[in-house]
Amino acid sequence: MSEFDLIRRHFTRATPGALLGVGDDCALLQVAPGNVLAVSTDMLVSGTHFFPDADPYLLGHKTLAVNLSDLAAMGAVPRWATLAISLPVADDVWLAQFSAGFFALAHAHKVDLVGGDTTRGPLNLCVTIFGEVDAQQALRRSGAQAGDEIWVSGNLGDAALALAHLLDQVSLNEDEFASCAAALHQPQPRIALGLALRGLARSAIDISDGLIADLGHILDASGVGAEIDFSSLPVSEIFRRRFAANYLLSGGDDYELCFTAPLARHAEVLTLSREIDLRLTRIGRIVAGRGCLIQDAGGKLIDTEGAGYDHFR
Ligand code: ADP
Ligand code: MG
Repeated sequence: MSEFDLIRRHFTRATPGALLGVGDDCALLQVAPGNVLAVSTDMLVSGTHFFPDADPYLLGHKTLAVNLSDLAAMGAVPRWATLAISLPVADDVWLAQFSAGFFALAHAHKVDLVGGDTTRGPLNLCVTIFGEVDAQQALRRSGAQAGDEIWVSGNLGDAALALAHLLDQVSLNEDEFASCAAALHQPQPRIALGLALRGLARSAIDISDGLIADLGHILDASGVGAEIDFSSLPVSEIFRRRFAANYLLSGGDDYELCFTAPLARHAEVLTLSREIDLRLTRIGRIVAGRGCLIQDAGGKLIDTEGAGYDHFR
């Protein structure tokens, strides 16, 4: 199979949302008047972000999902993606499953794959995602204000727990693993939430490196501090049973949103939670000053020094 056969067979689909998609030197894309492009790139490297024998369908899903999660955190409408892929061999079955997983999620969010690059090399998957948003409404990290409530979507820690099981650091039974494996392998980007938070949240970020590290980015960008009530952190039933605080605070791969909103809008956030059928939990508040204090139910402080995933630490 030639490079061009491979691209035609596995990565060329209709692109109704683009002026020009795969097949020319560039794609041609048009955002609505008044909107700006929201652009983000995420790379998944074999052996670093996934096991070399990972299920290709799930890998296709996750490659796009982690990028969509960044658009969700910005409150942007997903529109287009490009895919740079480096492959050791052109395995037709693997490629068919990978692209099926990729396009299933792309279709669900009306994302057109409009270009990319295909080379031989170690397995490496890099997506650039393009969304559009009104510049005034984009959810930045820098908007948090003292008095805001801090919220997170979904549950935290399940993906880190599933990964710990795969690394033999904990041992889950079959049912337990099944219930948290989806969080690791098939994260659901919170696009509907991000869009609904425009005009409601003051700041937002997606949790990809652990709550403490990612909330820390909001605090740094906004020049504020936070107080977190540890016992309020949302976890699944299985997580509560196999509880381990470090997975909760510094486990990566959650792909939930953390956002801040004015206290006066508390009820609106709860209404939104019902409307989009997604758990939204208030976990603490933004305070003047710097740093992040985490208190357990008894008021004791929890140390989070060095929390969060960092590739170079
Ligand atoms: P060029 O040499 O001009 O960069 P390529 O030969 O690399 O172009 O790619 C040909 C066309 O196929 C281009 O439109 C490119 O965007 C697209 N393409 C290449 N690889 C992929 C891929 N993995 N997924 C989607 N489109 C791709
Ligand atoms: Mg090229």
